[in-house]
Amino acid sequence: MDSQTYTRDFWHTKAGKLEFRVNHFIDGAYLPSADGRTFPSINPATGATIVEVARGGEAEVNRAVAVARKTFKSGVWSRMDPRARMAVLEKFSALIEANAEEFAILDSLDMGKPVMDMMNIDIPGSVTSLKFFAETIDKIEGAVTSTAANALHYILRQPLGVVGIIVPWNYPLMMAAWKLGPALATGNSVVLKPAEQSPLSAGLLAELFIEAGGPSGVLNVVHGLGEEVGKALALHNDVDKIAFTGSTEVGKLLMIYAGQSNMKRVTTECGGKTPQIVLGDWDDLDTAVTYAVNGIYGNQGEVCNAGSRILVDKKIHDDFVERFTARTAENFVLGDPLDPSTTIGPLVTASHQKRVLSFIDIGRKEGASLKFGGGTLPSAPAGAYVEPTLFTGVNNSMQIAREEIFGPVATIIPVDGMDDAIEIANDTIYGLAASIWTRDISKAHLFARDIEAGVVWVNCFDHGDMTSIWGGYKQTGNGRDKCLEALTQYTQTKSVWVNLG
Ligand code: NAD
Repeated sequence: MDSQTYTRDFWHTKAGKLEFRVNHFIDGAYLPSADGRTFPSINPATGATIVEVARGGEAEVNRAVAVARKTFKSGVWSRMDPRARMAVLEKFSALIEANAEEFAILDSLDMGKPVMDMMNIDIPGSVTSLKFFAETIDKIEGAVTSTAANALHYILRQPLGVVGIIVPWNYPLMMAAWKLGPALATGNSVVLKPAEQSPLSAGLLAELFIEAGGPSGVLNVVHGLGEEVGKALALHNDVDKIAFTGSTEVGKLLMIYAGQSNMKRVTTECGGKTPQIVLGDWDDLDTAVTYAVNGIYGNQGEVCNAGSRILVDKKIHDDFVERFTARTAENFVLGDPLDPSTTIGPLVTASHQKRVLSFIDIGRKEGASLKFGGGTLPSAPAGAYVEPTLFTGVNNSMQIAREEIFGPVATIIPVDGMDDAIEIANDTIYGLAASIWTRDISKAHLFARDIEAGVVWVNCFDHGDMTSIWGGYKQTGNGRDKCLEALTQYTQTKSVWVNLG
């Protein structure tokens, strides 16, 4: 559709006509909770309840896992002809694209992101993920090893079985699609648990899988709270793997649950405190500043790799701060997420807004100077808004430089050359991503070698495609999304030794 059509009225009219899928999706059908419990899905732009959603518990998890296991064993998906499976996933990807507007509204309504971010980032990211992994299906190979003449040894790569996928609320559709791609491509059955703050799009997703020709029982959805549904899934003895994106705190719990149950595999993609480094030799400050503001304020700063620690060489520090301030004012407009001119929506919930504002108070008390922001949106008092905020005069031992704020709060830390920058950048429990701006090619490569992060950008920020690996070092976790490496996390190898006599 012509982008001229995407007016505020267009989105509000379409949103007003939507019917919400509020029940669990198990074995190809919608199902309320056995005990009838629900929880509210709340619009963070207004504070109003959008709809009540089924609140699952152990009963629904048990039911979904049993269906997923039965379907896996039946072979209807796990042993489907690879090219037929590929065709289903390709159609699934195409159907997401065809339903882009509905997905855009659903995720925007319950978690507050600007609807045009959905159209420009989340939808293409989800469509491409499923397409990329669909294309790998007939290229997954085992191996035959070199043995003595009287033996044949080969290695089979097989699906794990039942995979529990637990996702956060910051990219509800895209985080699910990043994990569904490799999980489904390799033949597993899935129980997806959306975040309770953003449950609205998961039903449509599961429905489209069936419309694409996917067998019922392969992709199931159970809604509910983390400590109820997520925990029950992670403690379940018949779940072979949990694929998780979320906080480091919950990632650690999942590893405990695996140990307390069946030693299921757990892959984790958790928090970050990403450094964006600008060295003194960098001569195009406007470009670095544009990337830096987008790197921290995009998606309201609710991004695992939000570039929240900006390490700027003392020589260019003051100039950088002035340009950063001006560019933020030019680029970011707080407002209604369904208005295409909005570039920052509300935070996901009122309680998250409170948490982010409390970090701003902490920053002030720690002695950092508040260069701009720090407030809410007075014209929308019931919305969970926080202005883009910048602290300067920060040092890396301050709480605002150490903890993941997960909101639009940037800190600028002055540094003295690259060694100082790397030492500060690595002084964190996290290790998701890092960027450096320099004209010195040796420094760029030395930085890439020495920085403790799973993703490194040189003279850019947040670039990549499906071939680049997504995952972290240290307490960001052990998972790797996107890229072919992800396939190994949803499969296991089997050694077959044949005595030829
Ligand atoms: P969260 O950890 O609170 O919740 C994530 C998911 O885990 C939700 O579905 C939640 O219901 C579930 N959960 C909560 N408690 C649980 C429990 N005890 N047992 C099982 N499941 C439980 O995280 P969030 O607030 O939804 O998301 C923000 C976090 O996600 C941030 O830390 C962010 O950095 C991280 N994140 C990381 C990446 C990455 O790729 N590394 C990407 C996006 C978000």
